Amino acid sequence: MSALSSLSPARKQYLEFKKQFPDAILMYQVGDFFETFDEDAYITARELQIVRTTRSYSKGKERVPLAGIPVHALDNYVGKLIQRGYKVVICEQQGEAKGRDVVERAVTRILTAGTLSEPDLLPVRQNNYLVSIAPGRQQTGLAAVDVSTGEFMVTWFRPDELPLALDAELQRLAPVECLLVENSDASSYQFPSHNLTVTYCPPYFYQQEAAQQRLCRLFGVQSLEAYGCAREPQAIAAAGAIVAYLDKMNPSLLSLLTALYSYRTDNYMVLDAHTQRNLELLQGARSGSLQGSLLGVLDRTITPMGARQMRRTITQPLLDLQELQARLRSVEELYENPAIRSRFSSCLQELGDLERVSGRIRQGTAVRNEVLGLREYLAVLPTVRDLLQSCEAPLLLEMAEELDPCPQVSALIGQALLGRDEEGEEGDEGRLIRPGYHAELDALYDAIRDSRRWMISLELRERQRTGIRALKVGFNKVFGYYIEVSNANLKFVPDDYMRKQTLVNAERYITPELKEHEARILSAVEHIEEMERGIYADVLRQLAMHYQALMTSAALIARLDVLLSFAEVAAHQGYVRPVLEQGQRLDILGGRHPVVEYTLDGDVFIPNDTHQEAEQGERILLLTGPNMAGKSTYLRQVALIALLAQIGSFVPARQARIGLVDRIFTRVGAEDDIASGKSTFMVEMEETATILHHATSHSLIILDEIGRGTSTYDGLAIARAVVEYLHNEVKARTLFATHYHELAVLTDELEHLRVYTVAISEDEQSEIVFLHRVVPGCATRSFGVHVAKLAGMPPSLVQRAEKVLQQLETGKHIYPVISSERPEKRSSARIAETSAPYYAQNGAQPVTPSAATFAWQSAEARSIA
Ligand code: ADP
Repeated sequence: MSALSSLSPARKQYLEFKKQFPDAILMYQVGDFFETFDEDAYITARELQIVRTTRSYSKGKERVPLAGIPVHALDNYVGKLIQRGYKVVICEQQGEAKGRDVVERAVTRILTAGTLSEPDLLPVRQNNYLVSIAPGRQQTGLAAVDVSTGEFMVTWFRPDELPLALDAELQRLAPVECLLVENSDASSYQFPSHNLTVTYCPPYFYQQEAAQQRLCRLFGVQSLEAYGCAREPQAIAAAGAIVAYLDKMNPSLLSLLTALYSYRTDNYMVLDAHTQRNLELLQGARSGSLQGSLLGVLDRTITPMGARQMRRTITQPLLDLQELQARLRSVEELYENPAIRSRFSSCLQELGDLERVSGRIRQGTAVRNEVLGLREYLAVLPTVRDLLQSCEAPLLLEMAEELDPCPQVSALIGQALLGRDEEGEEGDEGRLIRPGYHAELDALYDAIRDSRRWMISLELRERQRTGIRALKVGFNKVFGYYIEVSNANLKFVPDDYMRKQTLVNAERYITPELKEHEARILSAVEHIEEMERGIYADVLRQLAMHYQALMTSAALIARLDVLLSFAEVAAHQGYVRPVLEQGQRLDILGGRHPVVEYTLDGDVFIPNDTHQEAEQGERILLLTGPNMAGKSTYLRQVALIALLAQIGSFVPARQARIGLVDRIFTRVGAEDDIASGKSTFMVEMEETATILHHATSHSLIILDEIGRGTSTYDGLAIARAVVEYLHNEVKARTLFATHYHELAVLTDELEHLRVYTVAISEDEQSEIVFLHRVVPGCATRSFGVHVAKLAGMPPSLVQRAEKVLQQLETGKHIYPVISSERPEKRSSARIAETSAPYYAQNGAQPVTPSAATFAWQSAEARSIA
């Protein structure tokens, strides 16, 4: 108490504010600066690379750390802090300091990553999701909102779906902020972003009854039946918490939420979090950005909402055959008609962020230029509608029906607001509202114009009356209107002039009449400002009534933009329309990896076939071959082709026939999960177990090396058991790349397993050439030493490794083997022998490295039935 009372009043005021926001950075206005103090100063100095100093509040008092930024640079710096996961509270001065009193201050904005709607602080081509998780014994609810677009959705998970399905959804949404109930443990969830803001909320936010009432009140309904989540308590809790939070942070955001969309993640193709990362859907693993990602190749969308839709589309492949056929039919039509594509494109170029502008209008925060922009966007829509109408694909025709160019909105904007080039008419400088829209406002402008005219006539009149030819009427901000007479003419100044200001060679005067007109002008100007603000807010309110229609049109444009992008990519990259069907077929002729082929600089991508038929024919494809031969590329290409087909895109192949895939699972070389104290091997086993538990006979499984993090025999044993289990129990289409060539013996035992290798050839100098062709047969060597050489290992080391390898291959172990239960040593002879029946059956020879070159021809010769 005494410590507090010894503080200066200014410091006390600061601490009072800070107490209310202990978990945020308080930006505290002091004149032309926003200052941060104490702990906050350390954070801002570090994060923003600005200077930290210290300051004492009054003489002899303790000095406190301080770091400040200029007022005009606030948004830029705040944006950076928010991106890094901080919350920021802006506390502004209210008025000027009076005497020795502390200036009054008030909190004007609370900013967190998930509640931003300022266009300058948001990524344009990406959604900005705030999520809320409500875990429970029977189910876990997950709600998400993007306040910049009004998207509000909710889903829920059964305990047996956790954590896989929740992790997958978090990965897909990539939220920037997450709400959790107080005292919960954020580390039990797998968030993809390192800069996520976690906000802990009081338990009543999540209390079901209250949450339900909150949602019902928001939507003006009696029950949540229509939103499809009435019987999902945790879903309601999660969504209700979001509403409570937004209400606390910025109630105007709630007006953007007009509906709640309920969905189940298994209504879409399930892509677990690993798979989304492994397949590099939105982010290249190496680059951490678009480069090297599927999105990077596929996204040729033009509008911001189209770009956001593209991200959602890629991570939410469909299972609905009809819907997919409709998308594919549309893409086909656009693909076949480059002229219409280019006409659509030029229309979309004219469109800005229809979605976010509509949101800001609804919220009442849109500035005049945004509203004028909206009118320009809407002007393009009739042309888009005509183009859609000229199409044949039913989906495009349906879009034409639904696309509403909102003529009332354009008309209202046109009537109410002055265009950008229309202002500046005499007396109308800075005018916002168009003449003729509001009579009272017009009267005020007329009053100003009259008084100005009077001023001009005054100059003439006074010149005549006084005979001073150089007499001037002028205006300055401090003294207002005046009559100026040069010193030479002072003797002619009449008695009714009152002196106001003395200059070096002139005097300035006013008259009662002048004063009167001046007062009229100033009061009109003041009124105008206030009135225009009111009228403008009213215009926004009227426009906001069309929010739904605007959002529907924005969503349609977004979908159209994505279809156009698919068609554009298909045309440029030589993709074909896939045939989709029920069943478990996977026939790809001349398939390519969409991203690798895109990034191969000048080199030609070698296409490869895939022929799986899980029910009767090939179910498991075992792929052997040296490192760098192209195994991973091949595996991923098959998964990506299936995924592309199921988002309605054409695919990089000569032909493709695909039975709908319900889930794609991938397991590829894991990194050590150091944080959880798990070894690579443990992570690998856990991931594999998850796949075995969750895959169905309609899934597609990609396994790139299993059992590598343990001893050879252990690894081989596990890999073999996994293959057998997949073959006999799961029965999913599986592609399995392995260095365990010993697994080839399984062709004898497993009816639906086939062994392939990636062909290589050796040139005269025994140098290996990768042919990147997938051919039936089994590799006999891994050529690891060759890859080590390519990687630039010292030549002496490579020679040594070659020698050790020779010794191993001829059975001369350099280390004694201790185990008494040593299984039979592997040898290439044994593999060739055990796989012989398969080759006999397929009319091919067992593949040895030298034969590999030729074997691809038999694969090429096969075609889709
Ligand atoms: P592996 O998994 O067998 O070690 P990768 O699939 O990683 O090999 O492929 C290694 C490199 O070979 C790739 O980065 C790519 O540049 C090239 N590559 C792979 N497949 C092909 C192909 N079909 N055509 C052309 N180049 C390819």
